[in-house]
Amino acid sequence: MATLKVGGEVDAQCTRCKMNLAHTILAMVGPKIVRVRCNTCGGDHAFRGAAGVTDRPKAASTRAPRAASGTPRAEKVVISFDEQLAGKDIASAPKYSPKDTYKVDQVIHHPTFGVGLVTAVRGDKVDLTFRSDTKTLVHGRGGVPTDRPAFSPPTTRQAGPADKPMAEPPPEEEGAAETSLPSGD
Ligand SMILES: [Zn+2]
Repeated sequence: MATLKVGGEVDAQCTRCKMNLAHTILAMVGPKIVRVRCNTCGGDHAFRGAAGVTDRPKAASTRAPRAASGTPRAEKVVISFDEQLAGKDIASAPKYSPKDTYKVDQVIHHPTFGVGLVTAVRGDKVDLTFRSDTKTLVHGRGGVPTDRPAFSPPTTRQAGPADKPMAEPPPEEEGAAETSLPSGD
């Protein structure tokens, strides 16, 4: 154990940074640290101890670890729908609207399909996993694109002879893909 003294360093929960950070001890009462200064934001505040040692049972709100922060690709992991929704804020899930813009991992509420989890975003389409099915719905039709639409050109799979009739694309889910409005390009 390092001897703690005023002017020394200690890890503490910064009330501003909301993180466990190195702090400089400003004041002590006997062996107890009472006041610290955050080395990161420079703010003075009462010593709180490191996260997990707090006396307040509030630490449950630790941020959920964000998996795969680099590539937003939907991994095909076989876990149950309930597991996928575990820890998600279902209560405040917004109602699905094609005008809203969704992002991967977001929970939304669909009037027909119920609670769904966004598993992929492809331009103006979102893949949603519902309890019984996976749907592709439109989004971001509100006119305020927050994301540059990732352009995915239609994959031409049929490289076969030309006498084959063109396979028709599967019909969009009703209600989901509103009649395709010209998207103004
Ligand atoms: Zn701080």
